[in-house]
Amino acid sequence: MIFGKHINKYYLRYAWALLLGIAALFFIDYMELVIPSLYKMLINGMNDGYNVIDGAQVPFDAAFVLEKICFPLLWIVLGMVVGRFVWRMCFIGTALKVETGLRNSMFDRCKDLSQQYYQVNKVGNLMSFYTNDLETVQDCFGFGVLMVADASLLGVMAFVKMWRMNVLLTILSMIPMGIMLAIGVVVGRAMEAKWEKRQEMFSKLSDYAQESYSGIAVIKAFVNEYRELLTFRKHNKDNENVNVEFVKLSMKLEIYTELLIESVICIILGYGGYLAFKGVFNAGELIEYFSYFDSIVWPVIAVAELIKMTSQGRASMKRIGDLIDAKIDVADGVRVTESPDLKLNGEIEFRHLTFAYPGTDAEVLTDASFTVKPGENVGIVGRTGSGKSTVADLLLRTYNVPDGTLFLDGKDVNTIPIYAVRNNIAYVPQDNFLFSDTIENNIAFFESPSHDEEEHRMVEDNARLADVHDNIMGFVEGYSTLLGERGVTVSGGQKQRISIARALIRKAPILVMDDSLSAVDVETEHTILTNLKEHRGGLTTILIGHRISTMEYMDRIIFIDDGKVIAAGTHAELMKTCGEYAKMASLQQIEAEKERGERL
Ligand code: ATP
Ligand code: MG
Repeated sequence: MIFGKHINKYYLRYAWALLLGIAALFFIDYMELVIPSLYKMLINGMNDGYNVIDGAQVPFDAAFVLEKICFPLLWIVLGMVVGRFVWRMCFIGTALKVETGLRNSMFDRCKDLSQQYYQVNKVGNLMSFYTNDLETVQDCFGFGVLMVADASLLGVMAFVKMWRMNVLLTILSMIPMGIMLAIGVVVGRAMEAKWEKRQEMFSKLSDYAQESYSGIAVIKAFVNEYRELLTFRKHNKDNENVNVEFVKLSMKLEIYTELLIESVICIILGYGGYLAFKGVFNAGELIEYFSYFDSIVWPVIAVAELIKMTSQGRASMKRIGDLIDAKIDVADGVRVTESPDLKLNGEIEFRHLTFAYPGTDAEVLTDASFTVKPGENVGIVGRTGSGKSTVADLLLRTYNVPDGTLFLDGKDVNTIPIYAVRNNIAYVPQDNFLFSDTIENNIAFFESPSHDEEEHRMVEDNARLADVHDNIMGFVEGYSTLLGERGVTVSGGQKQRISIARALIRKAPILVMDDSLSAVDVETEHTILTNLKEHRGGLTTILIGHRISTMEYMDRIIFIDDGKVIAAGTHAELMKTCGEYAKMASLQQIEAEKERGERL
């Protein structure tokens, strides 16, 4: 049985089912302990030809066997079958509910955890919490309650019966049991540590496998399959080694348990035989005593199994608990005063914002200041690694920003609920992630898809704006085409444009496109940008990119270099006033001309 703040509430919530299961167990255990007295009647009847019941001698004949032994045994067996069904339903059913509840709590927390958490904790590791650890906790909960209840009920009842029959023999029999418990506690501690290590190894292994599958195209392109295989084998071997260490300990526990049970059998046979020889017990009573001990064997084995299970369950529950308790580092703070339904006009101001990613010292943005007016089309341009995506990350409140550094519609972003911030921004991420779903559902992602005419029309309209409609119609199943994991069945450019359509459909006051036209040709880029200008009148658009030619479509351009806002203005202004910008523009022009020349 395991306890802890995340599991205790389930004992209370499902107390009725657990109590019903315990009642069924009590009934079965009680019935089981009637069986030894039937054995006694059978043996004594066969030996003596009669049985002593309430001081009177009752002859051992067919009627006695049927009435006193066979029929009661039949009822006991029937009762035990029903009882076993009930406790299984109660304990295992509850354990499954606990598993579902914990899984919900885990996912609930996962959805609130910040980007930073997922950068530190890999997907494979998280997946192992949902599979291995959760299964261990589920086992430990259901069987834990069963074993504790059964071991104590059956153990105590059998012990009382044995004690009543012979005190000294019972004390002698219990000494090895005490030793076993002491060994169990020590071995159990060691097993808990080993299980934790085993789960860590398994996480590492699943992390590695997950990353290898995701990166299989790169692995193949670099003909690196063999090296991957060797590394996988090493992780797999490490996993095997910790497993072997765990199994060794668990085998030791099993051997000790068996050894001690056998030693009790020796004591009962030796000392009990001596008592029978002395006439303290008759043959039937010795068998009855032995049968009581036999009923204790299962609880003893259950205790050993429980020690093993609890050590596993505690270690797994600790890992699950760490996830459920993981700190949500990006959340609404005490300064939030605005409503979650806030509708923004689309004004943005970065005011002397300096930012370093959590856990690092390097400033990615330094004293960044710029303003975007509502309805303005602004381009953010700069060299790779200059901090452009960081600007988008901060706008979306993916990370925390200091007070007084970022304003939306003149309101400090820290006074606006994160939900409202994100609800007012449509975002096309640099890594255009698509879900393994139909194209239609990917585009209509922000609402729960209704699959009606109106929605389909909206999806199509926005796909046209993103210049991807014709491509989609080229697929046999059109908008119902299923995309493979991470959208592998569509080209990079198609993926980018589906992501653009997904953002456009939201008609949000602010649209942020992070390097979203890098995989499309100049003509397509022209179509999309012209469409945007036409259809997003009065709404703010921020276009992040490298290509200066793209930026020429924008009302104003912000030039970032090494985390600093170097200049802001129209293309013509920047060409005149910002040497760095003009240099970048002419370099790109030379490159474009060279490329054109090579093509001709
Ligand atoms: P690109 O044009 O290549 O997309 P960028 O201008 O968008 O580049 P950013 O992604 O904003 O650049 O990154 C700016 C700097 O911040 C880089 O030096 C990068 O290594 C660092 N950086 C980005 N994300 C993180 C992160 N999550 N944690 C730590 N450092 C980061
Ligand atoms: Mg970027």
